[in-house]
Amino acid sequence: MSVDQVIRPDVLAMSTYPVPDATGFLKLDAMENPYGLPQALRTELGRRLADVALNRYPAPRPQALLEKLSRAMEVPAGMKLLLGNGSDEIINMIAMATARPGAAVIAPMPGFVMYEMSSRFAGIEFVGVPLRPDFSLDMPAMLNAIAAHPGAVVYLAYPNNPTGNLFADDDIETLVRAADRGLVVIDEAYQPFAGKTWMPRLPEFPNLLVMRTVSKLGLAGIRLGYVAGGAHWLDQLDKVRPPYNVNVLTQACAEFMLDHLDVLDAQAAELRAQRERLAAAVAALPGVHVFPSDANFLLVRVPDADKTHAGLLAHKVLIKNVGKMHVLLANCLRLTVGTPTENTAMVQALAASL
Ligand SMILES: *Cc1c(COP(=O)(O)O)cnc(C)c1O
Repeated sequence: MSVDQVIRPDVLAMSTYPVPDATGFLKLDAMENPYGLPQALRTELGRRLADVALNRYPAPRPQALLEKLSRAMEVPAGMKLLLGNGSDEIINMIAMATARPGAAVIAPMPGFVMYEMSSRFAGIEFVGVPLRPDFSLDMPAMLNAIAAHPGAVVYLAYPNNPTGNLFADDDIETLVRAADRGLVVIDEAYQPFAGKTWMPRLPEFPNLLVMRTVSKLGLAGIRLGYVAGGAHWLDQLDKVRPPYNVNVLTQACAEFMLDHLDVLDAQAAELRAQRERLAAAVAALPGVHVFPSDANFLLVRVPDADKTHAGLLAHKVLIKNVGKMHVLLANCLRLTVGTPTENTAMVQALAASL
């Protein structure tokens, strides 16, 4: 066998992205929206999807969908949109398009793992800059990293995953201005739960992109992400996009759901309310600290994360143990906000597992 003669040594040494089997578990580990669509919408969607031409390749730049999405997400006039098979694919496209010799990606740590993974795959230096213990940006350290790598891509998740907080707008503006020879990508995956966005400010900064996804809003299964920004960037990224990256069923489903955004928006509002109730219930448990969240998950610190995680698994509750991800996350767990019933079950299992 010649696998190890052919596959890259760093790939041989790594393990596959872990997605635990959730069969039989209460699944609160991946920031999914727990609500399905109302029956009438499902039936109508089924009818729409039945009419999709499965024998044809998808439109590479589906005009009607792009226009609807621009309008719904209030993309400023003059800015373009690029679609990805999830925002994960957009992150990979950015890596592929920017992987020059000496290229760098800068992101606060702890942060979203795909920024680092995509950099590694593309052979780009990844510069992780630790957050401060309160999870705010360490501005001197971020500015140093940007000064040392002027052509870098800087990722800022707003709100950040897995810490759940929004970075200060003044800090972000300072970094965007400092990175004037690079590219800043603000990742707004959790925008439906934060109610804050940099989208309207895109035209002010020629080195800024705003990335979103429909995943956390309730459509994680269809895999659709998008990035908004100037044509000077998006026309370049479009060159490394696989030509038919967004399939016909995803396009049709997204178009349909954009006509019914009120349903998803109402679910997001309900989850925001549930987030506050869950935070209060978890904070009332002995020895548990709940960090403030603007997303659809809570980061909590417990006395012993491994023990509590194991206890939750024994109670058939799946959450994410992030305690080993970064020193700042010691003994931390990440809990996705679910339905009231799910949250009650999770809190009970948590109380029994401390
Ligand atoms: C979940 C998440 C995404 C992933 O988005 P997909 O569109 O599902 O690929 C992107 N960024 C952050 C910060 C996330 O937490």
